[in-house]
Amino acid sequence: MEYRKLPKGNEMISVLGIGLGGIQQNSDEVIQTMISKAIANGINFFDLCCGAKNVFLPFSKAIENCRENVYFQLHFGAVYDPITSEYSWSRNLKEIKDTFTWEMQILNTSYVDFGFLHCVDEINDFEELQKNGVFDFLKTLKQNHIVHHIGFSSHTPSVANKLLDTGIIDLMMFSINPAYDCELGDELGIGNYKERQELFLRCQREQVAISVMKPFFAGKLLDAKTSPFKQELTIHQCLQYALDRPAVLTCLPGICSLHDLEELLSFNHATKEEKDYSIIGKFNIESFEKNCVYCNHCQPCPRHLDIGLINKYYDLAKVHDQLAYEHYDKLTKKASDCIHCKHCDNRCPFHVHQSARMLEIANFFKK
Ligand code: SF4
Ligand code: SF4
Repeated sequence: MEYRKLPKGNEMISVLGIGLGGIQQNSDEVIQTMISKAIANGINFFDLCCGAKNVFLPFSKAIENCRENVYFQLHFGAVYDPITSEYSWSRNLKEIKDTFTWEMQILNTSYVDFGFLHCVDEINDFEELQKNGVFDFLKTLKQNHIVHHIGFSSHTPSVANKLLDTGIIDLMMFSINPAYDCELGDELGIGNYKERQELFLRCQREQVAISVMKPFFAGKLLDAKTSPFKQELTIHQCLQYALDRPAVLTCLPGICSLHDLEELLSFNHATKEEKDYSIIGKFNIESFEKNCVYCNHCQPCPRHLDIGLINKYYDLAKVHDQLAYEHYDKLTKKASDCIHCKHCDNRCPFHVHQSARMLEIANFFKK
């Protein structure tokens, strides 16, 4: 399992996490077994916006002997029906406080790793959370070290940018997959490629990490019949695609069964070829055309340049990410080492003129 460090913290988070929004139809025993198995296989990150209330107890039992090694996001605004126990959402401070008190008790914990403003998709959502005192409640919990980090979940770049403007966000949960990034998703894939890419670059520049929801577009990308590309992608390709976006810390697909968990864990043993998502370059999607998506499909470079990484640092440096300059400086092979052999130009399915871009990148960093 690969672990990535939270930029504003010391937590090392597994690149594979689990969203608990679809696990609720299993028995308590099976849920506990699934969580324990995930932890035993190196997963240490969970999204606790649960499909129903019954998930909390088996989750709590699964983490009771390893609480300090497990991290989770708790959503302030996700509430559970007192009769059916099913998930719903609320902006009512009392209801949110009562849910939080119950969650802390059942989870048998004194702290929350990530306290999230839940589902902030419209600017009205954020205004309401401020007006109703939910944002202040979360900030007070952070001051009292009960919540370690503040985050939010959203599907909307313009609203996410407003949240980032507050300067107190450490983690953003956002829906990322190739369909959403090229405007072929559903109503939750908001923003065009440029807006979304700018948001991810901003997050990286401001050291706000991203946890990814819907990496498989609710499973639609995994089946040619439901994929907007009319061709299936594998879970390995979708996960790698999401993990290669700037600022991404972890992916949190939902799992419904032990079989789903095993499939997710198979990512750890997948080969580079199995994770290669450059096939999307062949789908003739205008948004991706001539944009480097950092996939490294154009390897091998005879000069051993990490072409994807060099391009990522370049994109970040262009939006004034100081760390990107430092990271670029540390590379043993830089754009200036390119001999313009054009091997990458011929290999790139996105038709990026990479040899020319290397010249541009070398000149940029020389300045
Ligand atoms: S140049 Fe093309 S193949 Fe190479 S990393 Fe960029 S997008 Fe991928
Ligand atoms: S053109 Fe430059 S970056 Fe591309 S393969 Fe050749 S040496 Fe490597």
